[in-house]
Amino acid sequence: MYDVIIIGGGPAGLSAAVYAARACLDALLIEQQPMGGGQILNTAEVDNYLGFFGMGGFELGQKFTEHAEHFGIKPVTEEVLRIDCTGAVKKVVTAKQEYEAKAIIYAAGAGHKKLGIPGEEAFAGKGVSYCATCDGAFFRGKTTAVIGGGDVALEDALFLSNLCEKVYLIHRRDTFRGAKTLVERVYAAENIELVLDTVTEAVEGEDRVQTLACVSKMDGEKKSLAVDGVFIAVGMEPHTGLLDGQVKLDENGYVVAGEDCKTSVEGVFAAGDVRTKKVRQIVTAVSDGAVAVAGLQG
Ligand code: NAP
Repeated sequence: MYDVIIIGGGPAGLSAAVYAARACLDALLIEQQPMGGGQILNTAEVDNYLGFFGMGGFELGQKFTEHAEHFGIKPVTEEVLRIDCTGAVKKVVTAKQEYEAKAIIYAAGAGHKKLGIPGEEAFAGKGVSYCATCDGAFFRGKTTAVIGGGDVALEDALFLSNLCEKVYLIHRRDTFRGAKTLVERVYAAENIELVLDTVTEAVEGEDRVQTLACVSKMDGEKKSLAVDGVFIAVGMEPHTGLLDGQVKLDENGYVVAGEDCKTSVEGVFAAGDVRTKKVRQIVTAVSDGAVAVAGLQG
């Protein structure tokens, strides 16, 4: 019986592991991928985590893992198949065995929704990005496109318009889902060109992204947009299916938990991107890991 099982080897889970180890708790960290880091593994360079500007996401993930291991945490790489967390004893079932703990810190993260179009996967990290604040600076003075019509797409387009020569905002409808104030700012930006009622069919290029193949939903006209990068902002998907029916989730599937990371179930904490929050960044995930451990100590 562990004091706590931490699920997820991203910044939130590894931070929780460090704090749990230093609090002399018997902690088990279960991660799905053998190398810690979560979403940052896909980030070319992390420029906004204090003290580590310019570091590669992979390298930063390794540093986080080394830090946890230094304090005696040995991450277990197993896929979690089932969680039973409503009782006093929490059970976590993986493909290999069943673990028990007094508490769970759930830090399984979230993933960007994919478009599922040709070229999207092949050019990931070679011009296709899902995070303008992470990767936008690589496209300074260049031409980019943002795909989506929600708050994130609008914010990304505005953010990129300050860096890029030109930004196409491609949306499948002619009205935006995002906040009106953002829409007004997008319309006012001189270097954002709206490409509405348009579906992106493929990302094309040789070594890197060069063009986007698009089609108008109005008249079926096909067009090819020359771009250096494309930011896909069509929503997020939290990895919370394992908690469904046990822990309160919001309408988008995020675990309902406040800044104390406490969920609707005693002894279950949500940390990092799985939690209902406004700012999903490495720094806030790391913070959640610390707060969750403090919470389970009472
Ligand atoms: P979102 O609000 O769900 O918007 C996703 C956008 O992507 C929608 O415009 C949608 O088009 C489009 N889309 C979805 N699937 C697509 C596909 N297969 N092909 C083309 N377009 C597709 O997602 P989000 O912008 O990531 O925001 C997530 C949540 O965070 C929202 O609740 C948002 O309000 C919130 N948020 C708030 C703020 C803020 O308050 N400042 C900032 C960021 C995020 P349709 O419109 O046609 O469905």
